[in-house]
Amino acid sequence: TTMIEFQNVSREYQSGDHILKALDNLSLKIEKGEFVVILGPSGAGKSTFLNLLGGLDTATSGKIIVNGENIADYDDNQLTKYRAKEVGFIFQFYNLIPNLTAKENIELMSDITNLKVDGNKILDSVGLLDHANQFPAQLSGGEQQRVSIARAIAKQPAMLLCDEPTGALDSNTGVLILSLLQTMCHEKNTTVVIVTHNAKLADAADKLIRIKNGQIEEVKINENPLDIN
Ligand code: ADP
Ligand code: ADP
Repeated sequence: TTMIEFQNVSREYQSGDHILKALDNLSLKIEKGEFVVILGPSGAGKSTFLNLLGGLDTATSGKIIVNGENIADYDDNQLTKYRAKEVGFIFQFYNLIPNLTAKENIELMSDITNLKVDGNKILDSVGLLDHANQFPAQLSGGEQQRVSIARAIAKQPAMLLCDEPTGALDSNTGVLILSLLQTMCHEKNTTVVIVTHNAKLADAADKLIRIKNGQIEEVKINENPLDIN
């Protein structure tokens, strides 16, 4: 079933004397539980897309329908609730809080949602139970990214939005992170959307979307996505 639908979405910026369209009348659909990779060169509009879907930014025009509701109509309060409840974010540079341990970074999530978050259990699910009491600076890049994935899934969000999640990692560690995201997606039926300029991620996708200049260039359904495990 369709979970996310962008209908003619534009995000415009005033740039000197002209209008820059970061997204230009973009329409697309994403199914529940789909593993989606969005590819495009720098400046294509990938981050803008992810920010709109995650309720971090608002569209200039168009509808963004998530589970039947148009979040483009939401006010700030509704967007705050939406982000807290529905969305897990994973960034290129992990965004962990440096003076909290891995476990504390994850258990923070119980303040944001009303869920009781068991940091040890979630760290175990990403293979990091042994590192629960370490601070981010004491972990490798791949381990920090696994903590940030653990933190994102602690909320049990309907979707995981990932902005260049492997971008700061060497390619072996990147594959590990991708495989973890793919497993989460398929085991928990979580919708995973990854934006990247790295074409290597494309083979793992159920759906590959190419964007350029704020517009869709190609949508490809992958009948046999590469199982990374
Ligand atoms: P990508 O993530 O694919 O690199 P972005 O979504 O970050 O692309 O940016 C798309 C376009 O919008 C780019 O031309 C960028 O310079 C412009 N842009 C993004 N954010 C802003 C902003 N806050 N103000 C002005 N222009 C912006
Ligand atoms: P990335 O594509 O790595 O996610 P960003 O989305 O932060 O990077 O930025 C993409 C492009 O948008 C860059 O070229 C950046 O200069 C431009 N940009 C981002 N924020 C602004 C802003 N507030 N004003 C103008 N340009 C911006």
